[in-house]
Amino acid sequence: MLPTITVDDQKCTDPLSCRKCLLVCPTRVLGVGTKVGPQKFKEIDPSQFIVAGVRFERCTVCLDCVNVCPKNAIQVSL
Ligand code: SF4
Ligand code: SF4
Repeated sequence: MLPTITVDDQKCTDPLSCRKCLLVCPTRVLGVGTKVGPQKFKEIDPSQFIVAGVRFERCTVCLDCVNVCPKNAIQVSL
């Protein structure tokens, strides 16, 4: 069974500056996307970026991302 990973974008408001969860995950499960999709030749406001689970099958539920997040924005469960 794959884990459920949720990131509250109301709490995580500037993932590009923080990136702690992305860096700590040993199996690179998490990724950064945008709320607006690809914007060709347009600058995207930093507040539009979001962290999300991408490679769920690699998640070992170690909870390192949950523990490192300064905003308490991540939940991981089986
Ligand atoms: S629980 Fe562990 S393996 Fe899963 S996304 Fe978080 S840091 Fe990565
Ligand atoms: S550690 Fe928390 S606040 Fe930082 S980028 Fe990840 S989800 Fe956002």
